[in-house]
Amino acid sequence: MQFKSIIGQEKIKTRLLTSIRENRVAHSQLFLGAEGSGSLALAIAFGQFINCPNRSETDSCGICPSCVKFQKLAHPDLYFYFPTTTTDSVKKDPKSSLLMNEWRTYLEENNAYATQSEWYNFLKVGNKQGYIRKDDANELIGKIAFKSFEAKYKIVIFWMAERMNEAASNKLLKTLEEPPAKTLIFLIAERYELLLTTVRSRAQIVNIHPLKDKEIATELIRQKQMGENQAAQLAMLAKGNWNQAINLLENSEEIQSNFIQLRQWFRYCFRPKDYVELNKFNGELARLGREKQKRFLQYGLEIIHSSIMLNQGHENTLKKAGEELDFSIKLAPFFNAANQLEIYKLFNEAIYHIERNAHPGIMFSDLSFKLIDLLAAGKKQIVK
Ligand SMILES: [Zn+2]
Repeated sequence: MQFKSIIGQEKIKTRLLTSIRENRVAHSQLFLGAEGSGSLALAIAFGQFINCPNRSETDSCGICPSCVKFQKLAHPDLYFYFPTTTTDSVKKDPKSSLLMNEWRTYLEENNAYATQSEWYNFLKVGNKQGYIRKDDANELIGKIAFKSFEAKYKIVIFWMAERMNEAASNKLLKTLEEPPAKTLIFLIAERYELLLTTVRSRAQIVNIHPLKDKEIATELIRQKQMGENQAAQLAMLAKGNWNQAINLLENSEEIQSNFIQLRQWFRYCFRPKDYVELNKFNGELARLGREKQKRFLQYGLEIIHSSIMLNQGHENTLKKAGEELDFSIKLAPFFNAANQLEIYKLFNEAIYHIERNAHPGIMFSDLSFKLIDLLAAGKKQIVK
């Protein structure tokens, strides 16, 4: 990771570079910054810079053997410790070294803009909370007792230091206070008040501010080819958090694709002349993946709900606008006493079956045929 691939944060980059130039790099540093500000990425880039033999004034070279290993997060003198918990593959005594492959893959996906909830999602551990544990501390102490393999400095990174439990921090007191020669320890944390006092007092604080709206917008335009206005709008909603910006973007893309697919599906089901097209479409839905299928059906329920609210004159409570609202208005007459309860039931049952691993192809074609009948019943009711 090079400094140039880090979003914004020019002041901090300069400060870190100056500390090297003036030869006063603190041995234990606490990178304190809110989620999505890039603290972890900065720490990695700093470590890479320090160890790069061909670095320029402002950045590592990115191509020497040391940089290449740093970029793969696989330098033998780069150590990561992060919250872990039991997973499908680590059934007991979790510790960072047992989940290192997962960790590298996860960081490669997001360019080291990591968040706790996304990390736990990645590990598929649901709501379980992770810790940095005593086993991590013991392992680290064992490893840094020896000379570095190839680097000038061993770089030790603790990500989410507030998740370090007491047993681990007690083990690490001396190491944090005075790391062995040629060893730098970077603690990454989001919330100062959650850090154990013993950890806080032993590291020099580097405050990392949330990103500026402009920095997020520029990056969205560069990475995601967004238009200027759209990028500015999204950046404002992201509140300085790059991960939040990406989440918002992915959500809005998904809502848009749900909308288009739902509209298409209802068209096929309203005028079922062409079963070939409908079958093809069902095949597309079947390939979406279970989580997306669930969200698609939930989205369908939302639109049906808006239509029914419109029927009942509750327009002002609607959360839909623009083309979603137009679509709800068009659909509204077709949801009536003849079918509305059944349609709700149908969608909810489909979600239930997806959660229980129903065959998606069969489920969506079954669902489509039932929907055809129910929409026909609704149409008949209007004609009466
Ligand atoms: Zn290099």
